[in-house]
Amino acid sequence: MTRFLDVPATRRLIARMGVRRFLSELVDVLESDYRRWADFDKSPRVACHSREGVIELMPVADAQRFAFKYVNGHPVNALRGLHTVMAFGALGDVATGYPLLLAELTLTTALRTAATSVLAAKHLARANARTMALIGNGAQSEFQAVAFHALLGIEEIRVFDIDTKATDKLVRNLAAFPRLKVVRADSTAQAVRGADIVTTVTADKAYATIITPEMIEPGMHLNAVGGDCPGKTELHADVLRMARVIVEYEPQSRIEGEIQQMPADFPVTEFWRVLQGEAAGRENAAQVTVFDSVGFALEDYSALRYLYALELEHGEGSEIALIPPAEDPKNLFALISEPAARASSLAQGEPVDSVA
Ligand code: NAD
Repeated sequence: MTRFLDVPATRRLIARMGVRRFLSELVDVLESDYRRWADFDKSPRVACHSREGVIELMPVADAQRFAFKYVNGHPVNALRGLHTVMAFGALGDVATGYPLLLAELTLTTALRTAATSVLAAKHLARANARTMALIGNGAQSEFQAVAFHALLGIEEIRVFDIDTKATDKLVRNLAAFPRLKVVRADSTAQAVRGADIVTTVTADKAYATIITPEMIEPGMHLNAVGGDCPGKTELHADVLRMARVIVEYEPQSRIEGEIQQMPADFPVTEFWRVLQGEAAGRENAAQVTVFDSVGFALEDYSALRYLYALELEHGEGSEIALIPPAEDPKNLFALISEPAARASSLAQGEPVDSVA
């Protein structure tokens, strides 16, 4: 049987763990999976673009587990009262092909993206970083703020969004964290001034230049989360030229990341190399670092395997009959013939002949 985690069940699992512990354990799972990079069968995600947005499939597998995520990105949805980013996904057993878990991944994507941002910042930001600018105060923003506060020691967040209502909401939500100082800024430039870390998590299907070179100060770490598909960026190209740029999976990031603006030979480093000690993270205190985050399938694999372990332990979800019973696998037809189909047709008031 396949375990099923819908949104209410996932909320119950997160509540049981507490957000801080959930994020912290997820960072550990992400790190352990990134460290065994060579074990994974990887590919850039498959994207179906339209005028309004994108729908993507993100597969990855190791020798034990296969994972995929369905995710969209529709910045215009905000105007329709719909989510910009929604997702669900599955974890499968490589040995048999059986789906083990079908799960909501909208909430989980926000958590895994924040956890990945923190993991990257641990290796790229200055160890004494205490202030963060947060540009874009929509659905992902609190997750980023809470993760950086709880796990990286960020004490002050300077927030800006072109939609003041989004910032009102963020300020309201972060009031639950009294040790986190939240400062409203009037512009991106004001929010960024003097910040140790700059997180951009805006949604606009455009070559945006939210962060421009004159905003950059020595030693800043930029966590660029919102530019994650072709034609959608947040950093001015000269910001990238000033920085050491770390990406998740280069073949995907060249198409989707901030570096889509740069020539094909623009130097970047894959994050797993930093984790394995093959490449440096931050090289000195004055260096500007960029984590060019687009979201890679491995991060959803980690999130799904973590959720599955939690679900096996706590059982907040349910079992669903996603796959037919295997009492007689070659007799699949029996499921739609006598007597089960007859009983089901009669129950629905259909003529029995329609089954034959
Ligand atoms: P959202 O629509 O809820 O929020 C986006 C916010 O950005 C809105 O409040 C909007 O007003 C603001 N914004 C747009 N242009 C701006 C500008 N120029 N300056 C300041 N604010 C601006 O979207 P969300 O769910 O929070 O997602 C944000 C972005 O993150 C999306 O682009 C999404 O695709 C991306 N994302 C990336 C990853 C990843 O792994 N890298 C994961 C999830 C989401």
